[in-house]
Amino acid sequence: MSRRSATRQYPDVSPNLPPRSRGVIALFEENCTVCMLCARECPDWCIYIDSHKETMPAREEGARARQRNVLDRFAIDFALCMYCGICIDVCPFDALFWSPEFEYAEYDIHELTHEKDRLREWMWTVPPPPAHDPNGEMSKEVAAAEKPPLPGGGPPGGGRPGGGRPGGGAAREPRRVGDRVDTARDGGEARS
Ligand code: SF4
Ligand code: SF4
Repeated sequence: MSRRSATRQYPDVSPNLPPRSRGVIALFEENCTVCMLCARECPDWCIYIDSHKETMPAREEGARARQRNVLDRFAIDFALCMYCGICIDVCPFDALFWSPEFEYAEYDIHELTHEKDRLREWMWTVPPPPAHDPNGEMSKEVAAAEKPPLPGGGPPGGGRPGGGRPGGGAAREPRRVGDRVDTARDGGEARS
């Protein structure tokens, strides 16, 4: 009674939402490896993924041909989604992001299933990540990129206290590369 009305004048005036609001989920298709983790962990089972395998030529002569997953369908049913964010948290390849966009109400509930092209379009509305705290700890990715290579062409890590071994060669501890664990030996490939 003693305060003025706080009625929001939406849609005439857009609400001033925090940039990390959970509006809609965006898909960065190029990062998706069809690992199916998001679909398996989704408590509502509202992520639909179809894919097929494609054979790629071997990198070297005499090596085996490689196979890769090709994404055919990726859809999220926002009529079922409860915006818990688990799919985004568990994606090991940074293929899913929150966008604060929320204006996608439909008269037909079927239209709330967004296929991959539409999920891709939401990527343009994803805000940039917050700036790094200049006094904070350096991220693992930047620290790994800035490590000087070891003499003799060994892997990076010589600048790490107690970490570098001239020439490399012996087995080393698995290390985190982004969200992947690099279990390869020196000179090998990182596996997810
Ligand atoms: S936010 Fe939660 S409910 Fe929605 S698609 Fe992701 S895991 Fe499923
Ligand atoms: S968890 Fe990420 S990489 Fe795996 S299928 Fe889902 S979106 Fe693609």
